[in-house]
Amino acid sequence: MYVKKCPECKGKSYSAGRNEWICPYCGEDLNDVEAERVKE
Ligand SMILES: [Zn+2]
Repeated sequence: MYVKKCPECKGKSYSAGRNEWICPYCGEDLNDVEAERVKE
């Protein structure tokens, strides 16, 4: 599982994959943001 922190709203979002990642809070495109691997 991966987590990304949105540069716009600072919200954290989680996903099982890393493609087509959009911030669920503000709709920012997070594809250029570094994904961090997290334990489930
Ligand atoms: Zn956001």
